[in-house]
Amino acid sequence: MSHPIQVKARKALDNMKPYSPGKPIWEVQQELGIDKVVKLASNENPLGASPKAVEALVAYLPEIHRYPDASTKGLNEVIASQLQLTPDQLIVTNGADELIKLVAEAFLEEGDEVVVPHPSFSEYEFGAHLMGSIPVAVPLDESFHYHVDELLAAVTERTKMVFLCSPNNPTGTYLPKAELLRLLDALPKKVLVMYDSAYSHYVSAEDYSDGLEFVRKGYPIIVLQTFSKIYGLAGIRVGFGAASSQLISSILQVKEPFNVNALAQEAAKAAIMDTEHITASQRVNTLGREQLYEAFRKLGVSFTESMTNFILVKLGPDAKELYVRLMEKGVIVRYGGTWGMPQHIRVTVGTREENEFFIEQLTSLLD
Ligand SMILES: *Cc1c(COP(=O)(O)O)cnc(C)c1O
Repeated sequence: MSHPIQVKARKALDNMKPYSPGKPIWEVQQELGIDKVVKLASNENPLGASPKAVEALVAYLPEIHRYPDASTKGLNEVIASQLQLTPDQLIVTNGADELIKLVAEAFLEEGDEVVVPHPSFSEYEFGAHLMGSIPVAVPLDESFHYHVDELLAAVTERTKMVFLCSPNNPTGTYLPKAELLRLLDALPKKVLVMYDSAYSHYVSAEDYSDGLEFVRKGYPIIVLQTFSKIYGLAGIRVGFGAASSQLISSILQVKEPFNVNALAQEAAKAAIMDTEHITASQRVNTLGREQLYEAFRKLGVSFTESMTNFILVKLGPDAKELYVRLMEKGVIVRYGGTWGMPQHIRVTVGTREENEFFIEQLTSLLD
């Protein structure tokens, strides 16, 4: 006889929605019985990982019976010297997603308010809900741009954190540097800003800031960066946060000792110095964005100009149907429903060939 489980999970968990990831290639191959599948759904680097990172991984394999460096000393030093920071202004994490969770655990109390932009990356709300805090969503405007005054208007006595994603996922839009500065100067000093610049390497706008200058100047800001996007290391899980050493030491208190595996540390060290791979990735992305814009214009499909490696595309009332039909034709994109945008899809910029394949399939569906 089985006994019904009476153990209750924390109340805070009732508010939490599961993350909805891009569908993996193998799953689509299996479900639909097709061979050729192009994934343009998770903003991965279509050129693959930095070859220098792969070399470093292979070279490290004989050592994997050893525990990793718990303090990621070597990697902190490399990142610090690349970004003109000190090693104690950095924390390396198991993907940048882990940083969001650790920051929530280190700073949020039950009932704290957390300002989050909308639509944006869903993990911010996850962090808030996990701690029993209250996410306060501030919508971007019709063209998906930030309004600093509206963000400020959402701040109350109970506000503990403000999340910003710039350029923003899933819209590709960004907050100009002067506006970021205006926000930082206007916020109460006890409010922490989490500035997610996961896509900073793809930005061409002159008036953009990756946020690091405000860390150097001592503002209460944590800058999030990841090795999953331009560095092409999404599968090995590594990201980092940059902030004043005081903020970093609080986050370190809630981190597990061996949160970043040894292979990830080796790969990240090599990838961040591989300027050749970074430049090549930027070039492929810039050309790919133009290729896709041109195709969308020809098709009469509206889109939001992007500072990232993905584009938000408005397909109209048939967007969900088109998303499903694209999948059947072997192209995985992301459906906007996840962000409350049922008329949109988000497509990652791929290689020239991948973009071409996507355009061909979309064109045939729209005809
Ligand atoms: C991809 C992404 C991250 C980090 O991803 P990890 O793979 O966990 O490092 C963080 N923020 C945004 C907005 C992203 O798109």
